Amino acid sequence: MQQLTDLVARAREDADGRITVNPRVVPIRPALPLTASEEEVSRILQICNACRYCEGFCAVFPAMTRRLEFGKADTHYLANLCHNCGACLHACQYAPPHEFAVNVPRSMAEVRMQTYHDYAWPPALGALYRRNGLTVSVALALGLALFLALAVAFRGSLLHEPLAGDFYAIFPHNFLAAVFGAVFLFVIFALGMGVRSFWRQVSPAQPGQPSTPAEVSAVRGAAAAEATHDVLKLKYLGGGHGEGCNNEDDRFTLWRRRFHHMTFYGFMLCFASTSVATLYHYLLGLEAPYALTSLPVLLGTLGGIGLVVGPSGLLWMSVRRDPAHGDQAQRPMDRGFIALLLLTSITGLALLAWRDTGFMALLLAVHLGVVMGLFLTLPYGKFAHGFYRSAALLKHAMEKRLPNRLALGGD
Ligand code: SF4
Ligand code: SF4
Repeated sequence: MQQLTDLVARAREDADGRITVNPRVVPIRPALPLTASEEEVSRILQICNACRYCEGFCAVFPAMTRRLEFGKADTHYLANLCHNCGACLHACQYAPPHEFAVNVPRSMAEVRMQTYHDYAWPPALGALYRRNGLTVSVALALGLALFLALAVAFRGSLLHEPLAGDFYAIFPHNFLAAVFGAVFLFVIFALGMGVRSFWRQVSPAQPGQPSTPAEVSAVRGAAAAEATHDVLKLKYLGGGHGEGCNNEDDRFTLWRRRFHHMTFYGFMLCFASTSVATLYHYLLGLEAPYALTSLPVLLGTLGGIGLVVGPSGLLWMSVRRDPAHGDQAQRPMDRGFIALLLLTSITGLALLAWRDTGFMALLLAVHLGVVMGLFLTLPYGKFAHGFYRSAALLKHAMEKRLPNRLALGGD
């Protein structure tokens, strides 16, 4: 009765224009219309919220139980929290051919891909990639490789006397540093802008949030540590029981997690190799080429091997995967990205193997073109999933430390 009285009083204040804003109460956002994919996620999560059989599988289901309705921001958040392990599809009694047709991994995959485009910066490049992602990335990589090869050919010969692995005899150090520095900064900025938009959309302030700066930083610190742990371990590719994902059928496998790890850490080792080489050059005055036993070459070689084994394994698993697990329309784009990663590592290792021969200029031009093509498309395709998923995991780690407004269980 008191609530009704309060509501009537508030309505009168509203009508009189006397309503005051309580800064601790969250302003109500206008509901945004849902796309067909978001509608499907919302429909399925309403069923899951009543069923809750899969509560222990991953972070999606505990996060779901904190909501009764699923608007645009909720579907974007939960879709990026899903790791597409497939476990909830194989466990679901309402999966097709049941009339409820519950397929969580597929519906989440469709919305997840949509978010990479919705939050892409600049939007025009996101739209271009959305229409022709596979063609854009492959054409860009091959086009840049061809352009660099022609540039070398016009200056002399693509095939030359051995230069003892001296890349800078082909492309001056300052040219490489300026071009790749600009590309790297663009990628970081574009990804940062995308994740910032995503974070602002999925993380409106919630009633019940801690309010003092000390409480806020306590929650953020612990949540950031947990999210970092979950990202680095790929915890939710364990299927909820630690035995792994479903790939082609009901059997569990940890190989999807292992291949992801090899890809991720291979990429990080290559990045570390470039960073160490930069420090050698500018801080220690040690210029390339470096010996095979030097730190930059060892890191790059290990990273390159990881980037051959990891993406090859993911490609192999993707070919064998149950088509019901994901969005078939995305397969060419996913495989195109894996192919570019493979091309990067194979051309890099080939360059290392033949750097003391007359093929170095040709191999260098091809490798640099592929790397530049890969980097320029990173913010718009499959690579972005690591960043959006990390943001979703951070939100989940923060959210679960806050009081549950619904208090309906599940945590
Ligand atoms: S996926 Fe199926 S079994 Fe799992 S919670 Fe949803 S409806 Fe229930
Ligand atoms: S596919 Fe795996 S990660 Fe995604 S919602 Fe289902 S159980 Fe969770």
